[in-house]
Amino acid sequence: MSHPMHDDIQEVLYTQEQIQQRVRELGAQLTEDYAGRDLHLVTILKGSLPFLADLMRAIDLPLTVDLMGVSSYAGIHSTGEVRVTMDLDETIEGRHVVIVEDIIDTGNTLSYVLRNLRQRAPASVKIVTFLDKPARRGSPLEADYVGFTIPDDFVIGYGLDWNQRYRNLPYIGILKRDVYAGPL
Ligand code: 5GP
Ligand code: MG
Ligand code: MG
Repeated sequence: MSHPMHDDIQEVLYTQEQIQQRVRELGAQLTEDYAGRDLHLVTILKGSLPFLADLMRAIDLPLTVDLMGVSSYAGIHSTGEVRVTMDLDETIEGRHVVIVEDIIDTGNTLSYVLRNLRQRAPASVKIVTFLDKPARRGSPLEADYVGFTIPDDFVIGYGLDWNQRYRNLPYIGILKRDVYAGPL
């Protein structure tokens, strides 16, 4: 009784073409800003994987990539507690790190990751996020590079999931309410 996943989408916010165009622009900006330095991209799993794959190919510089898994326990009391589920493979000491994120919402996850990475004495740390939702930001946290700034809607696609699904949608969309609210 499964429906094609596109039927679950209420509205497409950014098409595949708009995404590719914006990622190319971000890549060009990073290429300019990191020329002459060894760039090290650190990605937070799993939602950022499509963005990482596109962005790294839009950066025309020598670079390296590493992955980190974190999980947030928002829970019913929204403690914002974060835990590392998979650590980096390589040291970041003395390196120019750019954190590649899918979306910043409250900023809890990234605040934790930033604190964690800064303890490892990198030469610099900057943040590139594909989407920014500033409406619910708890801590004062700003990305250095932002793909699109969006209102406080729950979006899916291009890596972003609902219950681990829809990550493979090639566009960013808003899920129909009856999908997550269930049948009336
Ligand atoms: P934050 O800690 O900034 O509140 O959010 C971190 C994580 O929450 C994101 O990396 C993402 O996994 C999830 N998240 C926040 N907003 C959205 C959204 O609109 N859609 C989806 N699919 N995930 C979101
Ligand atoms: Mg993320
Ligand atoms: Mg998720």
